[in-house]
Amino acid sequence: MGTILIEKGSVVTVDPEGRVHSPGYLFLQDDRIAALGPGDPPQELQERAEIRLDATHMAVLPGLVNAHTHLFQTFIRGLADDRPLLEWLEAAIWPVAQALQPQEAYLAAMVGLVENIRGGATSVLDHQYIHTDLRNDDGVYQAAEEVGVRFLLARGWTDMGYHPAFMEPPDRIVAEMERLRKAWHGRHDGRLRLEFGPLIPWGCSDETMRRTHQLAQSWGMGTQIHIAETQAEVEMNRRQRGMGHVEWLAHLGILGPDVQLVHSIWLSDREIELLAERGGVVVHCPVSNMYLASGVARIPEMRRKGIVVALATDGPGSNNSQDMLETLKATALLHKVHSLDAMVLQPEEVLWMACQGGAIAFGQPDRIGSLEVGKKADVVLVDLDTPLAMPVHRVVSALVYNVGHGEVDTVIVDGQILMQGKKVLCVDEEALLAEARKACAALFRRAGVTV
Ligand SMILES: [Zn+2]
Repeated sequence: MGTILIEKGSVVTVDPEGRVHSPGYLFLQDDRIAALGPGDPPQELQERAEIRLDATHMAVLPGLVNAHTHLFQTFIRGLADDRPLLEWLEAAIWPVAQALQPQEAYLAAMVGLVENIRGGATSVLDHQYIHTDLRNDDGVYQAAEEVGVRFLLARGWTDMGYHPAFMEPPDRIVAEMERLRKAWHGRHDGRLRLEFGPLIPWGCSDETMRRTHQLAQSWGMGTQIHIAETQAEVEMNRRQRGMGHVEWLAHLGILGPDVQLVHSIWLSDREIELLAERGGVVVHCPVSNMYLASGVARIPEMRRKGIVVALATDGPGSNNSQDMLETLKATALLHKVHSLDAMVLQPEEVLWMACQGGAIAFGQPDRIGSLEVGKKADVVLVDLDTPLAMPVHRVVSALVYNVGHGEVDTVIVDGQILMQGKKVLCVDEEALLAEARKACAALFRRAGVTV
């Protein structure tokens, strides 16, 4: 650790006033933001800086939050393209996932996390529900520990109605949460954390939902669940339980600010009202929703009603990338064309969702999501000196509409430089890819999946 001075860049703070200091500076002391402002840095900071980063023609922004992924799917992407959700699960996800072992979960997560960094994400929330080997969770945590990203593992579970290989008895789910809480939760000053991850309404019993939510509240943890991703799933819930997915959460007494509802596409008007009344963060995955033809969540309307929306890529199996900068553009474009209103979402709102919205989903709005004094030193530098973006009239517009993962130059988490000059420093990328390629081939052979 130590001190880092980032100077001469366009500092996009994403603070409550949405300030952009262009040019501006940012001073990091150990794992925190110690100072920032417009113009040249004060002499005193220049003298104290151990590392100086010249951010000329670069945007300096808070690290993006990827609020929902499934890192194990890194090995599965491209395997069964162009199918609807339920067919895609049967053809691609289930056969390989059943055979997954901890070392493969680790390697898939390593590749996925490096890709997240390259796409500008410093915080990643992994919904990890492959427990045919319980140590898969540890493999994923180990990857997050090594790469150095901020990481929240939603430990996925299902106890009914799902593929038998993935269902677990409730006692085991609770015992594993206790084990993971002791082993990983809060490590590295809270850089690694844990929460509950009920998979989907049709795979989770009312009883275990209530039991795990009580535990989550007593441990001060959140809950993340897939909600209303497809019409078929909502119809199933209406047949079985007589209500929509959000109504069901409300009926169980679970709907609140500590719950992240991934997708939330097929909601009734009443359910959107319920969300606005009780709280609950919607995690929007526009690329995955388009890829699987799941539908369009009513994001602009939700935002108008005060519902917090975060952004995510979803798993690499249904995207197929982990590029949060691409997600920014997809969010804006999807809602423009869907509403036939070019003004419906501004670039600043989209960036807010990926930063502040993500920080709220992550349960750490006081620590991440904006560049403000006292917050964690999680910072991304994006190169705007490129034919892709020149000339830059408005930095936030260029970030959302012009650049992609290839322009991410530097990534800092907790004051540690994970990537600089477009080179990943935290991992030997070439060696990792070689090892992952081998492991993936072995996994497919064992799973009996031929490509
Ligand atoms: Zn998902």
